[in-house]
Amino acid sequence: MPMATPAAVPSYRGRFAPSPSGPLHAGSLVAALGSYLDARAHHGTWLVRIEDIDPPREIAGAADTILQQLESHGLYWDEPVTWQSQNSPRYLERLQQLQAAGLTYFCTCTRAEIKARGNHYDGFCRNLQHGPHGAAIRLLNLQPIQQFHDRWHGNVQLAPELANEDFVLRRRDQLWAYQLAVVADDYASGITDIVRGEDLLHASGWQLTLWQIFSQLDQGGSLPRLAHLPLILGEDGRKLSKQNHATPIIAANAAENLHMASKALGLKLPHPSEYDSLQAYLQIAVHAWQGKYA
Ligand code: GLU
Ligand code: ZN
Repeated sequence: MPMATPAAVPSYRGRFAPSPSGPLHAGSLVAALGSYLDARAHHGTWLVRIEDIDPPREIAGAADTILQQLESHGLYWDEPVTWQSQNSPRYLERLQQLQAAGLTYFCTCTRAEIKARGNHYDGFCRNLQHGPHGAAIRLLNLQPIQQFHDRWHGNVQLAPELANEDFVLRRRDQLWAYQLAVVADDYASGITDIVRGEDLLHASGWQLTLWQIFSQLDQGGSLPRLAHLPLILGEDGRKLSKQNHATPIIAANAAENLHMASKALGLKLPHPSEYDSLQAYLQIAVHAWQGKYA
């Protein structure tokens, strides 16, 4: 499995960025553990950011549950937890920066209209000069990144119609789009390494593209490195997801849960119950990760 790491990053900063659409399940633990181990293996900093910008999808109390689940599995973060719901000024500033650079436009297409024209948004509204009323704001995607290196998958080549899409920055319902929020925050937090589930591999081209635009506008920052970890499938063969109400992981099964997650990450370790503490086990896991992937 290719997970070679280029030369040591001086100030590795990684993060786990759950959406509070439900408690963590076996699949989200794999992502949490993988990003935690990678940060520790690089003597880096590991952050937690709650991605609570989509109220219709949120479950009351889920964010607190997620933080408790991380702690009960021994996954402690290094800086205060951040909340996307508090970062609107940052997103607005980024949006205005893109608007000033002429890199956005208003789009009034409905989901059904887009679907009727094909699988991907075709830039229909690019030159229609819509006003803001009832419109989404899209990126005028002039420099799409179609190809990148992923530490888990190696070279990733995206379908051009996907990579080239003028993706949404602010939704028609005026909520911030995930792509804008995640890149604005990762960039502002100085994230060097994004380690997360494979379900976001397809979005990485867009996110690198946006990151590249921000660094051009700011004359700063290099692109983050990426690693997309395997997903856990449920008995029905579908990926476990919070929205499908996958079984939450509970503290009483922390040892077993970590054992399963380590196995999913390709680590062959004794069962955590053979160690004095979860911390002792996690230290061994960091060493194993270092030997295999870092
Ligand atoms: N909030 C996203 C999720 O829970 C993950 C974002 C990310 O890691 O980039 O699926
Ligand atoms: Zn449109």
